[in-house]
Amino acid sequence: MAPSDETRKIKVCLVGDVGVGKTSLIRRYVLDVFDDKYIATIGTKVTKKEIEVKDPKTGAPQKVVLLVWDIMGQPSFREVLREAYFYGAEGALAVCDVTSKESLGELRYWVKAMTATTGKIPIVFLGNKCDLREETRVQYQDIEVFAKKHDSPALLTSAKTGYNVEQAFTTLVEKLLQNR
Ligand code: GDP
Ligand code: MG
Repeated sequence: MAPSDETRKIKVCLVGDVGVGKTSLIRRYVLDVFDDKYIATIGTKVTKKEIEVKDPKTGAPQKVVLLVWDIMGQPSFREVLREAYFYGAEGALAVCDVTSKESLGELRYWVKAMTATTGKIPIVFLGNKCDLREETRVQYQDIEVFAKKHDSPALLTSAKTGYNVEQAFTTLVEKLLQNR
């Protein structure tokens, strides 16, 4: 097959509780910076990033414009804005904070809320803040078991050090291109 010149636009969402590091992961991925200050997301923010991945079906390089949707994760959001936020999303990063067991359990509700609008889409489960070794309460295996229930991969990430951040987005994009 001839390489495709056409640039595909792909909407992906980040879900997970307030404070798990969604905005930080996006900033690290797009701008390659990290800030310890809390950067509250006001409503919804969309960040664009142009990337090139290998089309998993043809092996040809594929240009992709990623539209990364970030949210202010108030629980009330789940009812009020969720349809607009999730509408048209082709994939998602489901993020928990490895220092909070609760944040992993909450992902069940986030995934449920999302798939009510999107149907079954590829998800990559992330255990963020893996740099905080002393405070870690969630092990990789816990996230993996959780992810397996959704036939999804799991990764430990750190928006602070950059560990696995690029990998997380690339894994998601390749997975969803495969499913297309
Ligand atoms: P959000 O509410 O999910 O968007 O979370 P933020 O991205 O705003 O992050 C919440 C807080 O956690 C901020 O103070 C960040 O600096 C911090 N944070 C985010 N990611 C990491 C990480 O990987 N490691 C560490 N140590 N702190 C992080
Ligand atoms: Mg945020």
